[in-house]
Amino acid sequence: MEKTSDYIRYSVITDKNPREIVMLRGSGCRFRRCRFCDYYLDSSKEEEENFLLNQGVLAKVTGAYGRLEVINSGSFPELDKQTLAEIERVCKEKQIGNLHFEAHWMYREHIQPWKEHFKNLGITLKIKMGVETFDETFRKEVFDKGMEGATPEQIAGVAEEVCLLFGIAGQTKEHMLADIRTGLALFERVCINLMVENTTDIHPDPQVIGLFKNEIYPLYIENDRVDILLENTDFGVGGQCE
Ligand code: SF4
Repeated sequence: MEKTSDYIRYSVITDKNPREIVMLRGSGCRFRRCRFCDYYLDSSKEEEENFLLNQGVLAKVTGAYGRLEVINSGSFPELDKQTLAEIERVCKEKQIGNLHFEAHWMYREHIQPWKEHFKNLGITLKIKMGVETFDETFRKEVFDKGMEGATPEQIAGVAEEVCLLFGIAGQTKEHMLADIRTGLALFERVCINLMVENTTDIHPDPQVIGLFKNEIYPLYIENDRVDILLENTDFGVGGQCE
């Protein structure tokens, strides 16, 4: 089994919304229930080891685009304090004015204080939240996402960007289009992930993936507000070894 410490953790996205992206390591997702997800395997309870790894990754950041996306296979509050301080230091040093973190809905109360904290430093913090779909029933019954009762408007009150997950049995063209339209109406950006095989019991459905690629992908490929990841490593970070 590959070691997650060998993952590629720094990349530059040059086409849509140009930015640097780092994949840091935290203590692990506290939720861990989403049925399609095994990202949280990239985690460690050893805070000092995480910090040293993260510090090395953050040292690669140049500030080229003034925008940095930080992902950590979970939510940003699961990063250790030293790493959060290092992110802050690097943003100041490299004059990065836009910072993107990811967070699960369960951290919604933590988000505003962090936005204010960064605002006081001249940094705009934006939150990317995995909603996977705006269909409440599907989100609960199939994904077990832990967002019961959260309306799109409430989610838009804490997050500026959403992730959608397509390519699973039961999803229709109308279902996927409705999700994208809601995402674009209420959020600044939408990130579409296609399901890929992983260690969970949720598998990609080739028919739904084909439907997406043939009938939806062409409609949004040029849209600057829509990122589409056909593979979960398309941002250049993730489970390939350096
Ligand atoms: S999708 Fe995110 S919140 Fe859900 S289990 Fe995976 S890391 Fe945790």
